[in-house]
Amino acid sequence: MAIERTLSIIKPDATRRNLTGAINQRFESAGLRIVAQKRLRLTRERAEAFYEVHKERPFYGDLCAFMTSGPVVVQVFEGEDAVAKNREIMGATNPAEAADGTIRKDFAESIEANSVHGSDSAENAKTEIAFFFSDGEIVG
Ligand code: ADP
Ligand code: MG
Repeated sequence: MAIERTLSIIKPDATRRNLTGAINQRFESAGLRIVAQKRLRLTRERAEAFYEVHKERPFYGDLCAFMTSGPVVVQVFEGEDAVAKNREIMGATNPAEAADGTIRKDFAESIEANSVHGSDSAENAKTEIAFFFSDGEIVG
């Protein structure tokens, strides 16, 4: 296993309910280090660009509207096997299918408003990290 980095986003449903610290604690307790973090509001254009890979999916428009509905916290995590570890701690996309003890099981409101985003591969993580952060903003 190698030390990896991955991109995480705390989504608007979670920032609205003041869950930033509770969610960060889950990741930190599992050994991931938050090596960059900022709170921002996505514009429609930025949300559409970030989720471009999903643009043919029926939920794309709603997803982009949701992601601009409030502040998000974008983060870079670093750690052993960070991509897979992050996704394990998040749980399945649909909270109804997420395992007990995962963030989405405990906090998600719906399959769309599911509290967190995490990169799905090391390669995509690089692209997604560069979407939000310059090298100088990441302090390992
Ligand atoms: P994940 O975030 O688990 O990697 P996907 O990449 O498949 O999941 O989808 C991106 C995001 O789009 C999900 O986190 C969720 O917010 C939303 N989404 C996925 N599937 C649906 C769906 N069937 N209906 C509404 N929103 C969805
Ligand atoms: Mg995904």
